[in-house]
Amino acid sequence: MIYADHAATSPILPCAQKAMMECMKYGANPSSQHAMGVWAKEKLEEARETVANCINASPEEIIFTSGATESNNLAAHAAKKFWIDKVYVSSYEHKSMEKAARILSFENRLPFTKLSWREINKPYLLNKNMHNSFVSINMVDSITGLISDVQGFIHYFFDTEESIIHTDATQAIGHMKIDVDKLNIDMMTFSSHKIGGPLGVGVLYVRKGTDIEPLIYGGNQENGLRSGTENVPAIVGFAAAMQERCNNIDKNRKKIKRLHSIFTNSLKEAKPVVQNDYITKRHATPHIIPVFVPNIENDALVSILSDKYGICISAGSACDSNTKHKKHAYPLIEEFGFHPEDIRNIIRVSFSPENTPQEALQIAKAINEITDSF
Ligand code: PMP
Repeated sequence: MIYADHAATSPILPCAQKAMMECMKYGANPSSQHAMGVWAKEKLEEARETVANCINASPEEIIFTSGATESNNLAAHAAKKFWIDKVYVSSYEHKSMEKAARILSFENRLPFTKLSWREINKPYLLNKNMHNSFVSINMVDSITGLISDVQGFIHYFFDTEESIIHTDATQAIGHMKIDVDKLNIDMMTFSSHKIGGPLGVGVLYVRKGTDIEPLIYGGNQENGLRSGTENVPAIVGFAAAMQERCNNIDKNRKKIKRLHSIFTNSLKEAKPVVQNDYITKRHATPHIIPVFVPNIENDALVSILSDKYGICISAGSACDSNTKHKKHAYPLIEEFGFHPEDIRNIIRVSFSPENTPQEALQIAKAINEITDSF
C-alpha cells in the first residue's frame, strides 16, 4: 500500500504513538486533586508548552479542542464579543470556517465578503475598509497548496485598523515556520492529525488579552474557554508529533521537494496544476500536489488507483466527500488557467516526509498506465 493522502490525515508518527502509550498506562483526570490527577495535569501542561514553543506562543494562549473544525467554529463564535460590523473570509476557507462565518454574519446582520487569493496577496489592490471587521484567512489551501501571505496582509491593514483576525493554519503547520508574534494574529487554528498526531485533537491559539466567548460550557477546563475533560493522551501525542515536525521543517521540505519533482517530472498525460515557480517563490507548498488528468473523472481515478494499485490519494478534499451536493466548481484553479469546473478532473496527491522517491515514481507510473489505457 502506498499512502499519499497526508493532507486528509497523516498516519500517526512513532514518536506520537510512543508518547500516547506511555500516557495511556496511567489514565487520570487532569482536574483531579490526587497524585494521578496531578501527574495527568503535568503531562497536559508539558504538552501545552511544547505546542506553544513551536509557534512562539505562551502556553496560556493555547486552547485544546477536538480538532480544526471546532477551533474554526470557536474563532468565528468568539468574534461576537467584539465590535465588528462586517465579515471577510478567504474564498478558499475550509467549510468549518466558511459556514461558521456565514452564521456570524447572518445572525448579526453583517455584510459577508469573500476575498480571493490575489486580493489577499496583493492587499494594495483591495479598496476596502477593514476597520471593525472579523477576518479569516486560510493559510494554505488544502486542494491547490496555495499559500496566503497572512503576515503581509495583516501588516498592510491592521497596523492602524482595529479588527479581529484569524488564520486557519491546518495545512501549514509542521510544513512551514509559523511565529504567531511575527504574524501579529489574534487567533490561529490547527489540527493534530495532519502532522502525524492522533485524530480528534486540535488547537485554537488565542492571543493574550483577546477576550473571547466559549462555544462549549461546563467545567471550565482550558481556562473556561473550552469545557470538557481534556483528552490527555491525544494531546500528548499531538505535542510529540508537533515537536518532531517543527524541529525538522527545512530538512523535510527538501525531502518533499524532491518527491514533488520526481512525481511531477514522471507524469505523461496528466499535468500538475500548480507551476513550479509558485513553489520556488513559496506561493505554494510542495507537499500538496493537485494534478489535472484529462479524460477521466477524479472519483474513478482514485478508485482505480486504490483498488488496482493499492495507492491512496484523493479527489480534492476528503471533507467534501460527505457533502450531498459535492463541490463541482473551484475558483482557485483559475489562477492556473483552469476552468472552475475542471475540478472534476483534478486529483490531489499529498506527501509527508515518510514517503519515498520510489513511491513518488510508482504513483506517477500508475497514473500514466491508467491514462494510457483511456
Ligand atoms: N481547516 C483546513 C484547512 C483543513 O484542511 C481541515 C481538514 N481537511 C480542517 C480545517 C478540519 O480539520 P479537522 O479534521 O481537524 O476538524
